[in-house]
Amino acid sequence: MGDENAIFKNGGISLNISKDALAVWKNHRQINAKDHEKFGVIIGSCSEIKDEYWVESITTPFPNDRSTRYSFLLRDRNHQKAVDLAFVESGGTSIYLGTWHTHPELIPTPSLIDKMDWLSCIGKNPGRQLFFVIVGTKEIRVFVRTSFGFTKLIMES
Ligand SMILES: [Zn+2]
Repeated sequence: MGDENAIFKNGGISLNISKDALAVWKNHRQINAKDHEKFGVIIGSCSEIKDEYWVESITTPFPNDRSTRYSFLLRDRNHQKAVDLAFVESGGTSIYLGTWHTHPELIPTPSLIDKMDWLSCIGKNPGRQLFFVIVGTKEIRVFVRTSFGFTKLIMES
């Protein structure tokens, strides 16, 4: 984790995560007992037929965000500003692709609050494929909404 790109797949969808993004996630893992959850938005692009996605950049907590060891509130306007800036600078190809946050557990599983939050993100971005990443202390998991609910993508080795 952190040395190379990683590709996660589910059905016909793939998400390619740059080694830079992986390194940021690795550095934000909740390793220590007092670490609060870390989180941000995912910005990236997609292929024309919307089957391949690339994570280009991610935001990390800003001063006006709030968090505890088991919760976070993404409320600093700098996340949206980063999305808007990437969109303009890319000529409209870099877009909001979802959110990420950490969990203080080895293999992270989404909480009910996570799923409700993700549904809210999907509701605000109709028609767009979104990805939700949870960074555990050992594994990173990527989830998408399917007809079966939230399903994890499988990392290609
Ligand atoms: Zn969570």
